[in-house]
Amino acid sequence: MMTDKVAVVTGAASGIGREIAKQFFDAGAKVAIADLNADGAAAVAAEFDPSGTRAMGLAMDVTNEAAVDAGIEAVAARFGGIDVLVSNAGIQIVAPVNEFKFSDWQKMLAIHLDGAFLTTRACLKHMYAQGRGGSIIYMGSVHSKEASVLKAPYVTAKHGLLGLARVVAKEGAAHGVRTNVICPGFVRTPLVDKQIPEQAAALGISEEAVIKTVMLKATVDGEFTTVDDVARTAVFLAAFPTNALTGQSIIVSHGWFME
Ligand code: NAD
Repeated sequence: MMTDKVAVVTGAASGIGREIAKQFFDAGAKVAIADLNADGAAAVAAEFDPSGTRAMGLAMDVTNEAAVDAGIEAVAARFGGIDVLVSNAGIQIVAPVNEFKFSDWQKMLAIHLDGAFLTTRACLKHMYAQGRGGSIIYMGSVHSKEASVLKAPYVTAKHGLLGLARVVAKEGAAHGVRTNVICPGFVRTPLVDKQIPEQAAALGISEEAVIKTVMLKATVDGEFTTVDDVARTAVFLAAFPTNALTGQSIIVSHGWFME
């Protein structure tokens, strides 16, 4: 389904990005596992493909312009262009707005928004020049659509990705470049595991109560979304062949948020 497509997945040493990279690889793609955690990225690549033919680890801080440009060039040179970008790298920092440190706000926006912009720009250069189109997928969140307490920069950044995706959908159409946003509900990854005790402390409730009454309360079945749920959606969007699906956002959240 993705045979010989070249895909870059950021934040792919862990969690959602790792599973997306795996499912792309299993669908036949050549995959670059880009991550700030260089050793983790290399280990994931070696696990997928010990021969190194179709998977490569890539040390990349998505907030660093030079590192992003050099990293994307290296992937294009090694695998022959870029067909798919999944801008997925992300972190979470929680605090009430009135106590939020400016440096933490800036860090959040840099990773989620600067990272999406820089990787998009670097990949578009190749996608436009190649003349074979492309698919860009942004990792949004239910927080692209809905707000939660303690998450001001995260909610702001995830809403912002919808705007970026829509502009790139319009600009990229003439080149066959499509962009879409996946909006997952809570997925048990290191990012969420870290938040459970933090939210429990901030809200003065138990960790179990955070899961039941904060994270999963509004789902239709009380279930976490899984990395598999999200990765299947990414494969679908990456392989979708026309501009019919562009500028869209797909919510994968066990019904937490419906629109
Ligand atoms: P994770 O912590 O398991 O993985 C995130 C990866 O991003 C890590 O490998 C980390 O090293 C990498 N990373 C962090 N900063 C980076 C940087 N500057 N440059 C490159 N890589 C960097 O997290 P996850 O839960 O898999 O989250 C992945 C994405 O999914 C994030 O954008 C997150 O906001 C989004 N998301 C997660 C959930 C969830 O519930 N887990 C829900 C909705 C959206």
